[in-house]
Amino acid sequence: MRPPLIVVASFLAVGTLVAGAAAAQSIPDTAATLRDKALAGSPAYGVLESLTTEVGARPAGSAAQRRAMEWGVAKLKALGFANVHAEPFTITAWARGAEAAEVTGPYPQKLAILGLGGTVPTPAGGIEAPIALFHSYGEMLAAPAGSLTGKIAVVTEPMARTQDGFGYGMVISMRENGAVEAARRGAVAYMIRSLSTADNRLPHTGAMDYAADVPKIPAAALSPSDASLLDRMVARGAPVTVRLSLASAVTPNAPAWNVVGEIPGREKPDEVIVIGGHLDSWDPGAGAIDDGAGVAITTAAAKLIGDLPRHPRRTVRVVMYGSEEMGGSGSAYAAAHKGEIDHVVLAGESDEGSDLIYRLQLPAGGLDSPALAELGKVLAPLRIILDKTPAQRGGSDVEGLQALGAPIMSYYQDASRYFDTHHSADDVLDRVDVKSMDQNVAAWAALIYMVADSDVDFRRTAPASPAAK
Ligand SMILES: [Zn+2]
Repeated sequence: MRPPLIVVASFLAVGTLVAGAAAAQSIPDTAATLRDKALAGSPAYGVLESLTTEVGARPAGSAAQRRAMEWGVAKLKALGFANVHAEPFTITAWARGAEAAEVTGPYPQKLAILGLGGTVPTPAGGIEAPIALFHSYGEMLAAPAGSLTGKIAVVTEPMARTQDGFGYGMVISMRENGAVEAARRGAVAYMIRSLSTADNRLPHTGAMDYAADVPKIPAAALSPSDASLLDRMVARGAPVTVRLSLASAVTPNAPAWNVVGEIPGREKPDEVIVIGGHLDSWDPGAGAIDDGAGVAITTAAAKLIGDLPRHPRRTVRVVMYGSEEMGGSGSAYAAAHKGEIDHVVLAGESDEGSDLIYRLQLPAGGLDSPALAELGKVLAPLRIILDKTPAQRGGSDVEGLQALGAPIMSYYQDASRYFDTHHSADDVLDRVDVKSMDQNVAAWAALIYMVADSDVDFRRTAPASPAAK
């Protein structure tokens, strides 16, 4: 093997002399150039500003989501992506109507609430009932069957602020499953303290589930301040009565779309790296941090790669998923692309806002690949830890591909601030830190370029595999 290598090396040396340093730039050097270009000001902010200004909130199944799909197709085309198209699928869409809540006694006051995504409506005029208040979800689960009959169950457990978002994971069950558990115990409605790390008067919505064998009761989130208010009223001893009114409409078989665009590979266009964020959002805010930022970050990273003098060897595909919050887009994408699953080199999603990335996980053995030997050096100025633990989760829109066997990656972002505004009316462009968002673009562009221009095969990097390169 030795003589041919020497021949190649001297050929490259001549090429360098003739064409200049730029043409001979190594893969890590090009990745570093992409990184620095992103840090100096990436296209991400322009993409996010355009989405939040020209479309705004875009719940799956809404007219706004159709406008978002049209925006995504036009934006990817304008940025020079190839093979731009929308892939349709259908969902059961839920749309919020008029909502209100108030304490009717003993201290009448209005309450700031949002119905949870998917909640059934209350009867016209609302439900008025005494509340049964629990300071933790576990306390409510400990209540015996029948003990909540005729009551509105209220859980006021606060959420912990953590860098990795673990605090959200610890309380998400009280939003997703609480209405079922309250109904099992006889409750007529269910309210929670919003899953929020802010102590303000903004309620945060989010998806919830029902069970087939349990009555469906209306469910809403109180603002953190209003949850504390109910805590204080209940502490005074007299029964507290609340009236809750929720309206909503459900549309079966509503249209939704995943929007796709590509930077075609120059040598192996059928080998694909799939990156993206979700284009749908909750309705109260503008979906800036969740997940306009992820759409903007991955689109900008791919755009910078596409602007290189020559494309990487493999294709970089950006997917703007159309129904993450209420579910459906990840499975729709996986179903539509099942046939090419063996050609998916790597899949990842950006869906944790716009704050700094601090940690990377790749598929098993990925960091030991010679093709990524200099990845640490490239990412070091971005202050990102290379974690040898294999990635477990790539994001909910990547789960479908993961289940089919596609290798997945995970960039962890600092989520310390993320849940202050997540799913609330304050999820707006003003909350986005542009410098942090550009650090994300730098990290995605550098990593994805290194994978796309190499022949690293994560299906073969796992140490257990005898075929390991
Ligand atoms: Zn999201």
